Amino acid sequence: MNVISDSTDRMLQANSSVTPLSPAKKNPHHAPKRGSKHGARPRKGQFQKNFSQGLTAQPQKTESQKAQAKRLKNAIPAKGKLRIIPLGGCEEVGRNMTVFEYENDIVIVDMGLQWPEEDMHGIDYIIPNTAYLKGKEKNIRGVIITHGHYDHIGAVPHLAPMLGNPIIYGTPLTLGIIAKRQEDYKSTPLRLKSIQKDSVLQLGKFRATFFGVSHNIPGSLGVVLDTPVGKIVHTGDFKLDASTSGDAPAEIAKIKDLGKQNILALMADSTNATEPGHQLAEHDIQGNIDEILSQAPARVIVGTFSSLLGRIQQIIWAAEKLGKKVIIEGFSMKRNVELAQQLGYMTVKKGTIIDVKDMRHYADNKIIIMCTGAQGEDNAVLMRIANKEHRSLKIEKGDTVVFSSSVVPGNERAVQRLKDELYRLGADVIHYKMMDVHAGGHAKQEDLLELINMVKPQYHIPIYGNHSFLRIHAKVAMRAGIKPDHIFVADNGQVIEFGLDRKGILTKEKVPSDYVFVDGLGVGDVSNIVLRDRQMMAEDGMIVIITTISGKNGKLIHSPDIISRGFIYMREQKELVETIRTKVKNIVNDHNKTNSQINEAYIKEALRNDLGQYIFTKTQRRPMILPVVIEV
Ligand SMILES: [Zn+2]
Repeated sequence: MNVISDSTDRMLQANSSVTPLSPAKKNPHHAPKRGSKHGARPRKGQFQKNFSQGLTAQPQKTESQKAQAKRLKNAIPAKGKLRIIPLGGCEEVGRNMTVFEYENDIVIVDMGLQWPEEDMHGIDYIIPNTAYLKGKEKNIRGVIITHGHYDHIGAVPHLAPMLGNPIIYGTPLTLGIIAKRQEDYKSTPLRLKSIQKDSVLQLGKFRATFFGVSHNIPGSLGVVLDTPVGKIVHTGDFKLDASTSGDAPAEIAKIKDLGKQNILALMADSTNATEPGHQLAEHDIQGNIDEILSQAPARVIVGTFSSLLGRIQQIIWAAEKLGKKVIIEGFSMKRNVELAQQLGYMTVKKGTIIDVKDMRHYADNKIIIMCTGAQGEDNAVLMRIANKEHRSLKIEKGDTVVFSSSVVPGNERAVQRLKDELYRLGADVIHYKMMDVHAGGHAKQEDLLELINMVKPQYHIPIYGNHSFLRIHAKVAMRAGIKPDHIFVADNGQVIEFGLDRKGILTKEKVPSDYVFVDGLGVGDVSNIVLRDRQMMAEDGMIVIITTISGKNGKLIHSPDIISRGFIYMREQKELVETIRTKVKNIVNDHNKTNSQINEAYIKEALRNDLGQYIFTKTQRRPMILPVVIEV
């Protein structure tokens, strides 16, 4: 017996462990994902459009000769040139990773993930493509992680082992989050080295110093890389808040001092570059939080991101002022709060945080519950409470539910459904739009202008954001007096070079930056073809045609079996099923008129094409057709 199904053929082709993917990518028009980060999983996207463009391409099985030649050429370092290569984060919010290369020395800043688009079925997340670093592992002097958000640390468990396990530098909280997350992956132990904002690192020919920035997670750093061609400043995610909650505020004096240091280039966060004005300071919202918490008639349930530690701290402070107790629900949030407390990034009075079991000892208006799920995520605590699936918490009449984070674009419908459900159960809902209970963690236009004016760079490089964000950020840089030809808006993988004469150029050279998908335990083993299959099945379902053919005379032994999933409900479409069956018989019999030997590939191809066309004319649908030919 010889069973051949279509998908196996394809699957067998892509068996390498890490496959850089061909072209499902490169669309500067990605749906904006402002604030798309910190633990939520956006659902919408433009992947479909990108994807159909890539349909004709085959997955890269082995490195082509051309690619190999290019890689070998790349392996020889350019003399006296600093190469800056964003491997991700320049066409999207997320997947942040920048390579700095000077001759035989490489320093990497950040190693983040990107959440999948809506139509990337089954994909957990996307990580940067590090094909460029293949063969250069020994040159990597260190990886600097600016802060502990997933779009800056998320690829570490996958990429660190592939890159020769380089030393990873970060503040204690950042490293703590990396280390805790590493426990979920059974990969090699990481080499972590703690730094503070006054640390100095000599990494080959690079010397790295740091400045504290305010963001909505403590321990966030900006980086100053002193290179042989000049100093490059990289902000990480930042806003200019001199009074942030929890951790130390932005080190404005240090940033101002950079203005005297003849900075060659400034690379700055564009996440909120499309928004005019200044970002709110975290303390601006403390008053609002105090007010909501003091006026709530009964319990307050606050939904937010588990890594929004600044917000969690503010609520704890408000609770302490008002004599209320705080319950933290959700594994990741609990883990982060414990870690931040242990490391001294969070101050919590003894007895403020209580266990959910002890809730009944307190009056309802003394209780604040902090949990994950403000994005309507299926498995998060807030959704489980609303769906009555949570083991110890349920919505009671009079509860106030506060959504304390902006909705990631694409999650609007899920959040709306969640709010409706909460109202139905008797809760009152307060969203950040109604009151300022949310302040973003990123600089807006006027903040960016201020930054550029303080740092006074010769060149400006907007990073972290969709292409349009970078373009708008570039306009801000022009307002600050940077010459247009000194502003580089790069795509992912595009190489920026600076020479010893301090002249910069945005080259046309592109290193691979295509998506690498993480799906369950597999990294890079889901190819475009697998995704296309998933997409076809999601759209029009699939139909399996099983034909049993005699090996002696090539005749059908019995009537073909037809199985439909997600295409039609067969019991209600008997007529259509019968015509499909007849069509299948005809296709097989036609084939046998000319050839008594069985040619399975031919039969399968005919079934796919002729039957596909027939089904389309009958139904206007294009289900995936899976012909199975059994020879007996
Ligand atoms: Zn961040």
